[in-house]
Amino acid sequence: MTSLADQLSGPSDPGPDAGWQAQPRKGFFTDTTICIGCKACEVACKEWNGVPEDGLSLLGQSYDNTGGLGASTWRHVAFVEQPARSAGKQEAGLVREPVALGMPTLRDAGADDAAAPTTEREDFRWLMSSDVCKHCTHAACLDVCPTGSLFRTEFGTVVVQDDICNGCGYCVPACPYGVIERRTGPKGLKNVGIAQKCTLCYDRIGAGATPACAQACPTQSIQFGDVDELRERAAARVATLHEQGVTDARLYGADPQDGVGGAGAFFLLLDDPEVYGLPPDPVVTTRDLPAMAGRAGLAALALLAGAAASFLGRRR
Ligand code: SF4
Ligand code: SF4
Ligand code: SF4
Repeated sequence: MTSLADQLSGPSDPGPDAGWQAQPRKGFFTDTTICIGCKACEVACKEWNGVPEDGLSLLGQSYDNTGGLGASTWRHVAFVEQPARSAGKQEAGLVREPVALGMPTLRDAGADDAAAPTTEREDFRWLMSSDVCKHCTHAACLDVCPTGSLFRTEFGTVVVQDDICNGCGYCVPACPYGVIERRTGPKGLKNVGIAQKCTLCYDRIGAGATPACAQACPTQSIQFGDVDELRERAAARVATLHEQGVTDARLYGADPQDGVGGAGAFFLLLDDPEVYGLPPDPVVTTRDLPAMAGRAGLAALALLAGAAASFLGRRR
């Protein structure tokens, strides 16, 4: 039987914990080392789920046009530009000498061609990562939802029911990753005022199909499957990368002992989570419930003792 602490924040199997018959939990392992930034995942998600347009102009941060996840961005491909790691920091492996392709050097839009620099741009690397709702083992969004709009599916995933959400927005600050958001926009736009996020394609996986984003990914950076098996695959991939000298490779969200009891959608990163815009140590608020209850109990006892002392003092 799952202990109270594990029910609130530790390792657990969320589907059976929510009353479903035991079956393998479904999720994503995103291997960012093989993402090529094509955004096919973003497009497939929009197409399949009818998610409205979320901004077509680049933000001035590499090739990013949305900046992060949101009500109309259920997949977000981050582009992080960094100076290339020297071969001394990571020996061999994926750190390869750049190959000259004879391409022109990148410059700002509208820059004068004649004034274009003739020197090559400093060598840099792109970190690309397709972010998504983490379908947390302990989902704060679901815990605080007063209407039951957010629910745990039989696959262990977390889904919003659009027709039950009343738009109160409690889930928005509760999510430790800043994923879920109420949709804003002109009247007539789908689901304005309703909390929105990735459903892990509940309709598709219920029919035995792969989620649209994973199906569209040409490099298999997004891998869909049983979470237990994906965790093993991810650990093996990290071991292989370490053997190849890519010592910065690490998993994010795969540890059932972390602050949300492990994520259903986890990642292989090549740098600190903050570099990709991810919180380094996310925590579900229910983790603090026992401590909060203890402190509230102590405060109540202190109040009672004060009231009793004042009552007895008056009688003397
Ligand atoms: S990442 Fe946020 S929105 Fe997604 S399940 Fe976890 S708490 Fe909910
Ligand atoms: S699983 Fe489905 S809803 Fe979630 S990001 Fe992928 S395509 Fe979109
Ligand atoms: S489809 Fe795959 S390779 Fe393309 S941006 Fe998305 S995760 Fe990266």
